[in-house]
Amino acid sequence: MGTTARITAVPASEARAGQLDAALETAEAELRRVEARMSSWLDASELSALNRAAPGQPVPLSRETLDVLRTARSLYERTGGAFDATCGPLIDLWRAVAESGRLPERDALARARALGGWAGFELGDGEARRTEAGARIDLGGIAKGYGIDRATGALREAPGVHGGMVDVGGDVRVFGASPSGEAWRVGLRSPREGEGAWGSISVSEGAVCTSGHYARYAEIGGRRYSHIIDPRTGRPAETASLTVTVLAPTAIRADAWATALSVLGPAGLEQLAGEPGVEALVVHGNPEQPRAAATAGFPPVEDLGGFPSVERRQGRRNAVGSDGTS
Ligand code: ADP
Ligand code: MG
Repeated sequence: MGTTARITAVPASEARAGQLDAALETAEAELRRVEARMSSWLDASELSALNRAAPGQPVPLSRETLDVLRTARSLYERTGGAFDATCGPLIDLWRAVAESGRLPERDALARARALGGWAGFELGDGEARRTEAGARIDLGGIAKGYGIDRATGALREAPGVHGGMVDVGGDVRVFGASPSGEAWRVGLRSPREGEGAWGSISVSEGAVCTSGHYARYAEIGGRRYSHIIDPRTGRPAETASLTVTVLAPTAIRADAWATALSVLGPAGLEQLAGEPGVEALVVHGNPEQPRAAATAGFPPVEDLGGFPSVERRQGRRNAVGSDGTS
């Protein structure tokens, strides 16, 4: 997945020797299996087979890869197209731009845009087809989250484990007891380069994923281009989101929504009204004087140094307030 994973297992009091090592190994194996199936960087992955299939040719896929593809497709709808796993041709185009340092030709951009959209793929039973040559799916905004969910599931079921955390490149899911015995604390990275955590939140159960334009970008002619594509323009996302942190019951949803809100910016917080259990914090504006906006249910942020005050954006319909009022 192009990053580092850290898996933590907290032993139950009755845990026997060797159980924790076995638990960690099964969790790691889940991450490796998901990567082997869903990475677009590995020629042998199921996803790569689908991305190079002749139009109409059925490609056998595991049930989990099909599940992730279906989830990606439904998230395309739910995010109003901001999360678009079919924007592979645009991702390739802008990656080549970053390597060459030259902006794309108008025609090449139009062609890559036209290849996007779920009309280019048919998802069937045990198989999928690519219907247009050149269409390409990229699960880089969601497969990591899915892998975290599977690894967490393995850890949770393993004997002798009382709690745990799976952290892949700063995206995490936690459950049960933490090493301190208190709720898990998850750090929020500053959008300024070279700075560590500037805030933290307390989470007892669930996933926290962050997307940040700061983390990966290309510089062309002194301008920074995000690795996240805005499918509405076909260009790297340019909203004012510096970093987006999403809390959700599962990492697959947190991961995808973090990518979507990087495209949509703080205005996208309103769209979470229909997503039960999904809460988000968007840091936006000038990196030297950043601002923060969050949904009403996002946990309070502990300031570890310079965290801006958080503007609460969304009055959730039918939500019950902490004082019991609606
Ligand atoms: P990170 O890899 O830093 O955790 P994200 O989770 O936001 O970041 O995922 C970014 C990746 O998602 C990109 O590298 C690319 O593979 C893919 N991607 C880029 N733009 C989009 C988009 N609009 N919708 C879905 N996936 C995208
Ligand atoms: Mg993501």
